[in-house]
Amino acid sequence: MSGISKILIANRGEIALRVLRACKELGIATVAVHSTADANAMHVRLADESVCIGPPPSRDSYLNIHQIVAACEITGADAVHPGYGFLSENAKFADILDAHGITFIGPTAEHIRLMGDKITAKKTAVELGIPVVPGSDGEVKPENALEIARQIGFPVLIKATAGGGGRGMKVAKTEAELEEAVSTARSEALAAFGNDAVYMEKYLGKPRHIEVQVVGDGAGNAIHLGERDCSLQRRHQKVWEEANSPALNVEQRMKIGQICADAMKKMKYRGAGTIEFLYENGEFYFIEMNTRLQVEHPITEAITGIDLVHEQIRVASGAGLSVTQDEIVFSGHAIECRINAEDPRTFVPSPGTITHFHAPGGLGVRVDSGAYAGYKIPPYYDSLIGKLIVHGRTRVECMMRLRRVLDEFVVDGIKTTLPLFQDLVSNQDIANGDYDIHWLEKYLAETSAS
Ligand code: ADP
Repeated sequence: MSGISKILIANRGEIALRVLRACKELGIATVAVHSTADANAMHVRLADESVCIGPPPSRDSYLNIHQIVAACEITGADAVHPGYGFLSENAKFADILDAHGITFIGPTAEHIRLMGDKITAKKTAVELGIPVVPGSDGEVKPENALEIARQIGFPVLIKATAGGGGRGMKVAKTEAELEEAVSTARSEALAAFGNDAVYMEKYLGKPRHIEVQVVGDGAGNAIHLGERDCSLQRRHQKVWEEANSPALNVEQRMKIGQICADAMKKMKYRGAGTIEFLYENGEFYFIEMNTRLQVEHPITEAITGIDLVHEQIRVASGAGLSVTQDEIVFSGHAIECRINAEDPRTFVPSPGTITHFHAPGGLGVRVDSGAYAGYKIPPYYDSLIGKLIVHGRTRVECMMRLRRVLDEFVVDGIKTTLPLFQDLVSNQDIANGDYDIHWLEKYLAETSAS
């Protein structure tokens, strides 16, 4: 591919392996970086070269920009793929790579900054013609909160401008609850992000979380690859995702997709991105844009046949998109289950050594995981150890296949969330596609009480 001959993968776990596979297919050399805790990781074993960048804590290794830039210089890597999490949405990192003449496989630092601040992201969305949640026009201060809340109408949600992971978010159902909600949101935001700025939105009661995948070439061409429904969440963390959303028809899909693709064209967005919406009563409300690859990207790949990492590398190297919107065909249905090394009831992390590992196979099955028998899961990082992605011609076929595949998957020696998915795949609401963003937490509360 023009311009890129060696990619350093600034990540770990299943996503490092995912990116490595795309590089191999494109004939691009790979460099793995790892902390001392990850010396035996699969992505390190499979990469052409590897560099140890520090001790286990992420801030000393996977978040250590100087070490990563030094690893690029030592190995002669001419591009960096950041995966998701870690430095993937760090504008300073993109700037530093640029200053060193190293290609960042992602959007411009300017676009990362624009979308990283929730208030400017929302303003930009409005300018680009994307529908947003009704709310304050910017920051909300304790002294103007009541006036703004009355204009929006209760219930309202107070959110941190610097937000992430659902922190600094508080609901006020009535005027009486407002003052406390604003002050707790501000102190939580200050503690989590070092910034107490908050804004206000209409609180939606029973929305679904639906997000649109986009890719742009940075020169004004952009496509959308349909949506993913990620409503099944626990503590704002996605657990089960599906494409397409059981709630949308083809017209709705193409309409919201086109709005997003047009917005990316106007922005001259470069790279893969996800525009996240809440969806209620037939209306979409923008909540944020993620300027990176998402964990759940494989379900989009399953229904379109398009490799999103290939596209990211292509546009970063200046080769442009490999497809036009007209050429994209949506085919069948896909579901992803996030397999975490956690107790399936309490969600307490369960690091340790995997004694036996058998990944399922067969038609329409994909397992993205760096796990293997004998692998010791370090306790320092995210508990995601793998993703199971199942594709079928219809949603019913996909669910049938998922049930079979879950029975076949064996991970011994640690606890995993696999049993939770065995319960979900047999649940009637899930079978009907009838769930909103609160469904899973209610289900977990009810089933643990019984
Ligand atoms: P964060 O960046 O902290 O994850 P988001 O804006 O992406 O914040 O919102 C996270 C989650 O919070 C959403 O997926 C949804 O479950 C809930 N949420 C956000 N905004 C609203 C809203 N206006 N009404 C109801 N729920 C919301």
